[in-house]
Amino acid sequence: MPELPEVEVICRGIRSFLVGRTVTDIHCNGKRLRHPVPMEMMQRKMVNQIITTVERRAKFLQIGLETGEMLIIHLGMTGNLGIFPPTVTPAKHDHVLWSLDNGTELRYNDIRRFGSIRFLSVSEVVDREETIFQTTGPEPFSDEFSAEYLQKLAKGKSPAVKLFIMTNQTVAGIGNIYANESLFAAGIQPSRTAQSLTKKEWERLVIEIRRVLSHAIECGGSTISDFLNASQEKGYFQMNFKVYGREGKACSLCSANIEKQKIGGRASYFCPNCQK
Ligand SMILES: [Zn+2]
Repeated sequence: MPELPEVEVICRGIRSFLVGRTVTDIHCNGKRLRHPVPMEMMQRKMVNQIITTVERRAKFLQIGLETGEMLIIHLGMTGNLGIFPPTVTPAKHDHVLWSLDNGTELRYNDIRRFGSIRFLSVSEVVDREETIFQTTGPEPFSDEFSAEYLQKLAKGKSPAVKLFIMTNQTVAGIGNIYANESLFAAGIQPSRTAQSLTKKEWERLVIEIRRVLSHAIECGGSTISDFLNASQEKGYFQMNFKVYGREGKACSLCSANIEKQKIGGRASYFCPNCQK
């Protein structure tokens, strides 16, 4: 499943090919994604319009038009976007194709079809933080995401800190892998209650969450840098994890064995020596 870094890499990868381009035509193979693809709406509202922005919010890609309207895409489990010349035959699971005025095509590929594509009107775009993102916390790289914010929010909260940071209302887009890796980097036991962390520990965790995500984005950027002619069939990038999936292996800092514990039903990996 694409996590925040993968979505960010895709966003950065396609941005330069899309901003300033005009959509000239849209094709769809008629298959339903998580919801029906809004083909009629896209045909009416997107064709002959200029793409002005390509941004990420949580795990959604937001493709903004000059009209103020917006296409909002969630990749689900297996979704991907790439830019192709029309001479490349569409892949089997390319469900939607947007033709651009320079002859290239943006293609949405999704084997399992759990992704979604929505077209938002201007008022829906303006209201989206109160509607679509109502239960989504701040972005991990935003100023709003700070030690003060986390400590205040965690006050009186007894769930494990790992579950707390994986909650969408706390912060956008921290999945299981990056929660494990950030807590290891910050030296914090994943099973500690959220309210037990000190201000200093929250400060360290904010820094490490950003560092771990930035590192993943950099790795991804070099792994799948070629968005033009990118192979739609290739999977999401893999990085070398410090604790995730390393049960019984030696900690890279102290050589103790990495332990595994289920917290809230999710696999949690940690070093019993380095994480307090
Ligand atoms: Zn260790």
